Amino acid sequence: MTDTARSAAPAADLLAKFDPLIAQREALLATGVKDPFSLVMEKVLSPTRAICNGRETILLGTYNYMGMTFDDDVIAAGKRALDEFGSGTTGSRVLNGTYQGHKECEDALKDFYAMDHAMVFSTGYQANLGIISTIAGKGDYIVLDIDSHASIYDGCKMGDAEIVPFRHNDIGAMEKRLARIPAGAGKLVVLEGVYSMLGDIAPLKEMIGIAKAHGAMVLVDEAHSMGFIGPNGRGVAEDQGVIDQVDFIIGTFSKSVGTVGGFCVSNHPKFEILRLVCRPYVFTASLPPSVVATAATSIRKLMHGSNKRAHLWENSKRLHAGLKALGFTLGSETPQSAIVAVIMPDLEKGAAMWEALLAEGLYVNLARPPATPAGMTLLRCSLCAEHSSEEVGQILTMFENAGKATGVIG
Ligand code: PMP
Repeated sequence: MTDTARSAAPAADLLAKFDPLIAQREALLATGVKDPFSLVMEKVLSPTRAICNGRETILLGTYNYMGMTFDDDVIAAGKRALDEFGSGTTGSRVLNGTYQGHKECEDALKDFYAMDHAMVFSTGYQANLGIISTIAGKGDYIVLDIDSHASIYDGCKMGDAEIVPFRHNDIGAMEKRLARIPAGAGKLVVLEGVYSMLGDIAPLKEMIGIAKAHGAMVLVDEAHSMGFIGPNGRGVAEDQGVIDQVDFIIGTFSKSVGTVGGFCVSNHPKFEILRLVCRPYVFTASLPPSVVATAATSIRKLMHGSNKRAHLWENSKRLHAGLKALGFTLGSETPQSAIVAVIMPDLEKGAAMWEALLAEGLYVNLARPPATPAGMTLLRCSLCAEHSSEEVGQILTMFENAGKATGVIG
């Protein structure tokens, strides 16, 4: 083939694989519904209120579980760090990107979890990507819940271990998978405390017991439970009395902590070597000083958050019971976390309900496949410790109005 012939060949459109998704999106927008994935918050007034489309809206679709984003001490710490250390580190943690604030943030995490080691990443996504891919490689096996977060799957793929998924929260299925792994192979069981789509929790006590009996190491992602679940807010593993048996806890600053960043805490004696070999830790810039300062301050305040935790449980129980009484189908039988998922009949009804709620002045999350399990369309409600009891009452009225207007409830 000549050079001219080669350059004249039609280019294969690498974006053609997204045509079905483009068509689905266009069909949805053609029904006249607003795009649920491009909402702009024009102004944020508090952890629970923002101006959206020019109107004050109650926020029920953020992960701001403990309402720390507007805490006075947190904001003051961020401002101080900005003044004293500048706007960014411009470097990796292993070269020029470890400031005093990163150390203080890791110290706060060690104190919060009462663990020996803490490693801060630039996001929770990178924490899963980095830790999983670094500890489980070719020839090792990762046994994980099929509903695991994308960052867990991506970490598994990056490390090139054998991935062995089991049915969501199915203890027997997990045990069967573990029993089939060749003797002597490296094994990692990966679980989440709270599964964020349906808001249900894992039976960690049983699962971790089985994992240990099969000689597996255990990693638990406590992204959605930190600060809220457990007597000290350490998560579901703490609540079920098995935190000492967890080898690695992964978490994020983007939810209860109220900023951005991710981490891993562990008591493993060789943990510190990971700082040199974990690529998503080494080959990226560290968090800005203002971010680690806000995170450290928030984490230390969360150690004394028992009143907030109690109020958040009240909110969760009340919303769950109220929605159930109105006739909505929910993702979990009982309230198990700060997330209450409302199952919609299909994407069209879900989008219509989402828009009707927004018109009422309520923002929730519309979630759909592939993020959701079993092809479900969900309206995910995540409560905040700063929602007042009165607001929860208003939220229920808004759901009743929107549900009746869209025919989702009778
Ligand atoms: N793990 C789980 C279970 C999550 O839900 C998320 C984010 N939603 C992450 C990890 C990633 O956290 P981050 O936002 O800090 O990247």
